[in-house]
Amino acid sequence: MRKISNPPTNSPVVSLKDVHKSFDKLKVLDGVDFEVDRGEVLAIIGRSGSGKSTALRCIDRFETIDSGEIVVCGHRVNDPKLNLRALRQDVGIVFQSYNLFPHLTIEENIILAPCSVKRVGKAQAKEQAQQVLAQVGLEDKLHQYPEQLSGGQQQRAAIARSLAMQPKVMLFDEVTSALDPELTGEVLKVIEALAANGMTMVMVTHEMGFARGIADRVVFMHRGRVHEIGSAAILTSPATPELAQFVGTGL
Ligand code: ADP
Ligand code: MG
Repeated sequence: MRKISNPPTNSPVVSLKDVHKSFDKLKVLDGVDFEVDRGEVLAIIGRSGSGKSTALRCIDRFETIDSGEIVVCGHRVNDPKLNLRALRQDVGIVFQSYNLFPHLTIEENIILAPCSVKRVGKAQAKEQAQQVLAQVGLEDKLHQYPEQLSGGQQQRAAIARSLAMQPKVMLFDEVTSALDPELTGEVLKVIEALAANGMTMVMVTHEMGFARGIADRVVFMHRGRVHEIGSAAILTSPATPELAQFVGTGL
């Protein structure tokens, strides 16, 4: 077992230890443990309601935990003295629905946080917006409004907006599940390129083929626990009947 006192360079980027979380009487996370190392892609899979989104949201402190410990990029997430702003600078999160501000252009959406949170100058932020949009293949959409873009393009713009904050880790929560099937490929390609560039990421996904291709490790959540964890090989040779059933019926 790795100790939390390891020097920062060796520490995992994300670490959850015995994390418990209930909503009223509903136990949603029941002792969750996993770690994500620098440059690693961790895919989280599991049935609807198994606690995947909640686990992800706890990493970015959108939810607080009842007990256990979460450390992200050196931030002790459940410490009352947490610098939330510093945590949010290090962690980018993209949800199922794109959450772009509809009344702002793509460029305005992208420069908003760098200018207001990081106090980057407007000219520099605009330059950066061009770079991140090029990264997701949308360099020509700078001055368009979200509604002028397809769902896949909006999701890529949302990823670009996160990248503009230069996060150390990216969290993706079923980012393709609201999209028409023909639009998922372009979004997955962007995520694949980020992974190839060494971005550390935690990705909740129901795209089994994608998880198999991209994930260094896979976590299978079941009833608020990490039921299986291992390389992508667990998807083809599950050790538990629950995962076997999930991959059998979930494809
Ligand atoms: P998953 O992402 O695996 O589908 P979630 O983490 O979203 O699962 O949800 C796990 C359980 O917690 C579900 O039963 C869900 O209804 C419940 N839940 C999630 N968020 C809340 C909330 N804010 N308040 C009450 N119950 C919630
Ligand atoms: Mg979910």
